[in-house]
Amino acid sequence: MALSEFSLIDRFFTRQRVNNPTTRLGIGDDCALLAVPEDCELAVTMDTMVENVHFFAGADPEQLGHKILAVNLSDLAGMGAKPLSVTLALTLPAVDETWLTAFTRGFLTLAERHQVDLIGGDTTSGPLTLTVQAMGLVPKGQALKRSTARAGDFIFVTGPIGDAGLGLRIKQGYASSRPDEALRRFNRPDPACAAGLALRGLATSCIDVSDGLAGDLSHILEQSGVGACLEWDSLPLSDAVREYLQDTGDWSMPLVAGDDYELCFTVSPEKAPLLALPCRKIGIIEPEPGLRLNKDGTIKPFKAKAYEHFS
Ligand code: ADP
Ligand code: MG
Repeated sequence: MALSEFSLIDRFFTRQRVNNPTTRLGIGDDCALLAVPEDCELAVTMDTMVENVHFFAGADPEQLGHKILAVNLSDLAGMGAKPLSVTLALTLPAVDETWLTAFTRGFLTLAERHQVDLIGGDTTSGPLTLTVQAMGLVPKGQALKRSTARAGDFIFVTGPIGDAGLGLRIKQGYASSRPDEALRRFNRPDPACAAGLALRGLATSCIDVSDGLAGDLSHILEQSGVGACLEWDSLPLSDAVREYLQDTGDWSMPLVAGDDYELCFTVSPEKAPLLALPCRKIGIIEPEPGLRLNKDGTIKPFKAKAYEHFS
């Protein structure tokens, strides 16, 4: 017999191990209760993944559980917030216990790794849709924003770009000679939470790279009223991505493909020597608006076209 809504929640979502002191009341009542320390601000974010829009029908449920949490933790990382608790809204076409077991394994394993409490949610029937709301803490005034980059700042990225984009292309049929890491990056992204915390007090601006480096950096540029020049030769590209670029000529892929979940951030030249995290300097913030790319000896404007729903 299919599980009822309530026994489903009880069976799959009320058994987790972490309990942060901020979590005063978790799953089971009309609301969860959170205590926000006096000296902190609560960072709140939400991301949804819809079947056939954000993932293929029949996608591995354990990977989906991991990814829907990972993309939300990545948003907290982009603000320099320490992840604390999440809520989960699940819309399911049917109660499939095998699917739910795998999904919650992916979800709760990552939650435990990052010491995050699942404190509530909603469960409904309908087309498969996953939504997570994530909450984190950041000391007052220390959140890393998009609007505060300054001309002269150096631009960094915390790790290689384009691998998740390559993973997507492999899923769509591209034959790579080294598919493993690209597929892992696409299926099980690692949110850069430690990097986000390490950047407090250092970065002048920060964003998590979810929609492609060029498009996401452009959000920093627009909100900060500045421009930038990226150095093609400095971009961290894996061997698998380099092979793809050579093979296809699709050279802009690492700049425009989504799902990297690295952080892109800016730091003043004075503070740059203090950076103690894995990262690569990839360019500089300039007063003139717009994004430029220095490639093959010429500097040209680079138009970033991020994916947009409804267009
Ligand atoms: P209500 O009808 O009062 O909104 P629900 O019946 O939707 O409450 O949920 C009962 C409890 O289970 C609530 O505490 C809610 O936060 C929690 N919950 C429901 N669905 C989920 C889920 N998918 N993950 C985690 N907690 C859930
Ligand atoms: Mg209620």
